Amino acid sequence: MEEKTKGKLLEEMLCYTTEHIAKADESIVAKSMEFCEGYKDFLTASKTERLAAANILDIAKANGYVEFNPDGIYSAGDKVYYNNRGKAVILSTIGKQSVDNGVNIVVSHIDSPRLDLKPNPLYENTEIAYFKTHYYGGIKKYQWATIPLAIHGVVIKTNGERVDIHIGEEADDPVFCITDLLPHLAKDQRERKLNDVIKGEELNVVIASMPYPDENVKEAVKLTALALLNEKYGITEREFINAELEVVPAGGARDVGLDRSMVGAYGQDDRVCAYTSLMAEIETKMPTKTTVSVYADKEETGSNGTTGMESDFVEHFITYLSQMQNVNIVTALSKSKCLSADVNAGYDPTFPDVMEPRNASYMNRGVVITKYTGSAGKGGTNDSSAEFMAEVTNLLDAKNVIWQTGELGKVDMGGGGTVAKFVSQRNIDTVDVGVPVLSMHAPFELTAKTDVYTTYQAFLAFLNR
Ligand code: MN
Ligand code: MN
Repeated sequence: MEEKTKGKLLEEMLCYTTEHIAKADESIVAKSMEFCEGYKDFLTASKTERLAAANILDIAKANGYVEFNPDGIYSAGDKVYYNNRGKAVILSTIGKQSVDNGVNIVVSHIDSPRLDLKPNPLYENTEIAYFKTHYYGGIKKYQWATIPLAIHGVVIKTNGERVDIHIGEEADDPVFCITDLLPHLAKDQRERKLNDVIKGEELNVVIASMPYPDENVKEAVKLTALALLNEKYGITEREFINAELEVVPAGGARDVGLDRSMVGAYGQDDRVCAYTSLMAEIETKMPTKTTVSVYADKEETGSNGTTGMESDFVEHFITYLSQMQNVNIVTALSKSKCLSADVNAGYDPTFPDVMEPRNASYMNRGVVITKYTGSAGKGGTNDSSAEFMAEVTNLLDAKNVIWQTGELGKVDMGGGGTVAKFVSQRNIDTVDVGVPVLSMHAPFELTAKTDVYTTYQAFLAFLNR
């Protein structure tokens, strides 16, 4: 074997580098491939926050979780779930230690950017029937035109009955779409700025084109759509007002690449962290500290509302745990630690200008730890402390979890935020941990399977620390 020079040895000892996981630990590859089979199934079945919540609850119940009872008595190893309105979920495994030592929290979010139907969505124009939409979260609107779309959601009828609607995912279902101009006639459209290539009020979903066969009806195509909806679901136009109907890309998660090393799908931000933290939570059998795994809603619109992380529902849950153990909630919160489980922007070689390569996260280099997010001069950031960064990175090193660090793009290029600041404002040490994603917020997002798997390993290490 070639002898290493003094400089080479010193370089190895002093310099920090990251490398492709297949070079660092080849054994991860096969495990990642297997792990992501379940992940793809979860993505395909969880296109909305309600579907994700329902699937998380089903998987939890099948793994021994029972509904949390605030007046119950629990012992170490007991597993409970809390269902917040079918749109956010908490899973918890009771720890061996009392919560006066704090709890281990992992928060992901199960909502993704999409198009919501407006409260009065249905109209007809020139013998085509449409749904009006209002986009939810940060999207590049043009990306949603000319792709097959599905509709998922609920309608609460005036008689109180709840109707679930899912159209566009089965092979023999119809799908829907938003039209775009042909290039031949796009002279004026080409002059539009990116944000207006397709404008908000142009995100109109085509849903029917045949007139109801009655000469006396004014808007006969609209009536065709209403008649079909009424026949299948028993709903009327009035009842759209009591509905949450979400338009999402149709179709399931797919392997990407000749080597099948990546996952392509809608909604990986942030269901990738929901699934990985769900698997880690279930795998955690007798933790030292109580686990609190949260699957939150409304992150993409700012974490507001009863099911978002600005709501007190997680704090109330920890309060109940504290009361059961006669612990002051302030003590429990201040000793707790949290991973804000969310994706980061992966380095895209086609668009290198937005990244600072020394501080970007890369595909296949492992779970990414993001010290801070925010924009401009770290505006709106949690900015994890040096102490907590050391705690988390040392834990991952000790558990042989391959990780990398990443910033959300170049300084002053834009930015973004996560739920981290809403957790840390409760005096809980928090850092962002998750998966690098390419084409984030697009109808088809890309992740590397090894990054998905190492993110699961990171959550497992944290919940069992
Ligand atoms: Mn996210
Ligand atoms: Mn997002």
